[in-house]
Amino acid sequence: MSKYVYDFAEGNRFMADLLGGKGANLAEMSVMGLPVPPGFTITTEACRAYLATGAAPDGLAAEVGEHLHRLELSLGRKLGQVDEPLLVAVRSGARFSMPGMMDTVLDIGLTDDSVAGLAAWSGDERLAWDSYRRLVQMFGTTVLGVDGAYFAAALRDAKQAKGVDGDLGLDAADLRALTATFMDIVREHAGRDFPQDPREQLDLAIASVFSSWHTDRARIYRRAEHIPDDLGTAVNVCAMVFGNLGDDSGTGVAFTRDPATGAPGVYGDYLPNAQGEDVVAGIRNTLPLHRLADLQPRAYEQLMDIMRTLEGHYHDLCDIEFTIERRKLWMLQTRVGKRTAAAAFRIADALREEGLIDADEALRRVTGAQLAQLMFPRFGDTERAPIATGVAASPGAAVGEVVFDSATAVRRAEQGAAVILVRRETNPDDLDGLIHARGVLTSRGGKTSHAAVVARGLGRTCVCGAESLTIDTQARRFTTADGTIVAEGDVISVDGTAGAVYLGELDVVPSPVVDYFEGRRPADRDDLLRAVDRIVRHADRRGRLEVRANADTAEDAHRARLLGAKGIGLCRTEHMFLGDRRVLVERLILAADDSARKAALAALLPLQRADFTRILEEMDGLPVTIRLLDPPLHEFLPDRTELTARVAVAKALGQGDTQEDLLRAVERLHEQNPMLGARGVRLGLVIPELYDLQVRAIAEAAVARVRAGGTPRAEIMIPLVSDARELEIVAERARTVLASVGAETGVDVPHEIGTMIELPRAAVTAGRIAKTARFFSFGTNDLTQTVWGFSRDDVEGSFFPAYLAEGVFTASPFETIDREGVGTLIDIAAYEGRATRPDLELGVCGEHGGDPKSIRFFHEAGLDYVSCSPFRVPVARLEAGRAAVGDTAVDSR
Ligand code: PEP
Ligand code: MG
Repeated sequence: MSKYVYDFAEGNRFMADLLGGKGANLAEMSVMGLPVPPGFTITTEACRAYLATGAAPDGLAAEVGEHLHRLELSLGRKLGQVDEPLLVAVRSGARFSMPGMMDTVLDIGLTDDSVAGLAAWSGDERLAWDSYRRLVQMFGTTVLGVDGAYFAAALRDAKQAKGVDGDLGLDAADLRALTATFMDIVREHAGRDFPQDPREQLDLAIASVFSSWHTDRARIYRRAEHIPDDLGTAVNVCAMVFGNLGDDSGTGVAFTRDPATGAPGVYGDYLPNAQGEDVVAGIRNTLPLHRLADLQPRAYEQLMDIMRTLEGHYHDLCDIEFTIERRKLWMLQTRVGKRTAAAAFRIADALREEGLIDADEALRRVTGAQLAQLMFPRFGDTERAPIATGVAASPGAAVGEVVFDSATAVRRAEQGAAVILVRRETNPDDLDGLIHARGVLTSRGGKTSHAAVVARGLGRTCVCGAESLTIDTQARRFTTADGTIVAEGDVISVDGTAGAVYLGELDVVPSPVVDYFEGRRPADRDDLLRAVDRIVRHADRRGRLEVRANADTAEDAHRARLLGAKGIGLCRTEHMFLGDRRVLVERLILAADDSARKAALAALLPLQRADFTRILEEMDGLPVTIRLLDPPLHEFLPDRTELTARVAVAKALGQGDTQEDLLRAVERLHEQNPMLGARGVRLGLVIPELYDLQVRAIAEAAVARVRAGGTPRAEIMIPLVSDARELEIVAERARTVLASVGAETGVDVPHEIGTMIELPRAAVTAGRIAKTARFFSFGTNDLTQTVWGFSRDDVEGSFFPAYLAEGVFTASPFETIDREGVGTLIDIAAYEGRATRPDLELGVCGEHGGDPKSIRFFHEAGLDYVSCSPFRVPVARLEAGRAAVGDTAVDSR
């Protein structure tokens, strides 16, 4: 039979799965000989059994009885005995901290009889009655389910009748009368009396803590924190100690280091003559912890000593809760404390310097998400109130003038303005605007909306789902909840870290961490930068996955290299055909005959060659994977509806050029499902001259670099292949072009030809594809779309929130790789590909390449590199190192 109850002395900190975080750490402190009030823990297993059947499992009551008996023996007092009663606190404590989400009941054991015993022992009748009425209130609401408003109203009436404002104005007699009123409330609304049997109180309180696992707020919290729903909570039953017995008592919370900055030195708050709940509730002003040194020097010394012991023992920042009962110090809780991103880096590095942990452990103590937080610029402090709040979708601080469409964003940005693109929601047509904007604000959609995903990928600040805003793109303005109208051109500030929007310009503070990575600031004069530098460099030493960048311009390539990229894993060439070059593509598409087509291609060639030459120069000596054109051609043509209208108007007005040719081309290229249409390698087969042009431009750029003394390492990548034959045809043509450039120039053009794996068919036939491909790059964006059958641009705003709420997935598969589905295809393709070609190079260039959890998977899958946007390169370096050193035994959440 299972053992459901453990005395504190029987457990340890590695038993958090069974005893919950609080129980495991109370056990650890007990075993260390620290002053913990005696008690026991009921396991999460008991909770799971209770939740499954609705009743306490067999044997639990007897076990609780035995442990209670032992507790009573050790203290020489019985639960609720009439003179000097033992009282207990019943507290929830799950595996992962869920602060304030579940129930706690204090002072269990007080009854009509024992309340007098408490008064006699404490010498404080008021305290006894105050404790009793609090118990009836807490028990009535949390255990018996009475609406707390009844108790609050009765308390208010009592104070009014007495003519006082605060609870302290009520004396013992008032509180005694109030307790009687509370008893009546329980009887009336719970349909039963407040239990006078202490053991019944205890059993009901335990059951209520179990049940509180399933309250709505606990569920919501778990969903937000990705805590599994089936863990259950442990219950800690512990002898009450009183911090409210007078000025020689009190309660406090403390950290062994500053959790905000990571600076060494204890940090905390103390409240004399108070219970722990008073500190948390923030009703009274606390004193800084160091004041305790004057008030209670002995207890203070002991506390400092214990904090040193705890840090030495846990090898980490600990937070604690303590109570002093008549000068005696009691430890009520400890755990590895939560901290800010900056503190995490400083503390990990400091602990390593102090010799408490090694460099691998320091690396495990920080996360890519924390590093990302440190890399975003932020706003300085402000007194201003936000005009709207929404989802903090992509961190950072952006200030700019409001624009309502992509074209205006591009135009104003090209005129030198900083712009914030404001839309109800964004779609792929807005990409250009997103690229040119400093920040994005939408009134619809969540963290996985198009705006959010693209903004994160581009490193743009984004607040989305600011629902209080009414956005009128036609009138070019939005209206806030209080009626303020913000028009195009007005300046706003968007805080993507906090999810807030402000009118006007707030001061922006650049991230010193980015300055450091980009070489503008040395690491050695600032302890945060020193910590980041040491930890990231250690990650580079340990990481097996290489990190490349997705970059389409020389500027991005330059930045990526500064940020530590070891090459370019994806250079998307379609961006090179936008802007003023769009007309050249239009001319190509409209070309009526061979010579018109040749002329259009000839016009594009030097431009494209110059693009590649500059990128290869920035990445000299490192691989640059250039993807041939991928999107459907209609993306380079005007919108069908707009053009139809324009043509109709032009015809009606009898204008000369009615653009009917263009409209016909647009009609011809129109597709119902462009994502699955004429794009990628399919273009290479139907318009081979386009790929010829691109391959020639790459080859000529490489020749130019060789002639300039450089070492170009261009790789040609073919997108959207589903069958080996497609690749064979296109690769054969590419080799012919490369050979002719070689012959024309006398330079042996270095090249590799590989493919993207972004369709399920490619993944399962990878063995054949690898006969031609020298490398695979997993395009996990398209692979996710096609494996799930999700059109990303459509589904994120529609049913994803429901899927997340229903637990179909805990994170969007477009953000974090779906190991089971997409991951399995990656495993198959990697295996089959390497079976054909053992030295096949494997990388990933979808969004997931910069996502910490996904990087862990790519490491395990044996890939060679991940490629992500330049801004995420340091995060990926860190995570590649973390993946290589593995996890610690104890999760410190
Ligand atoms: C992909 O599909 O993962 C990819 C990188 O290609 P794109 O996002 O450009 O479609
Ligand atoms: Mg793709």
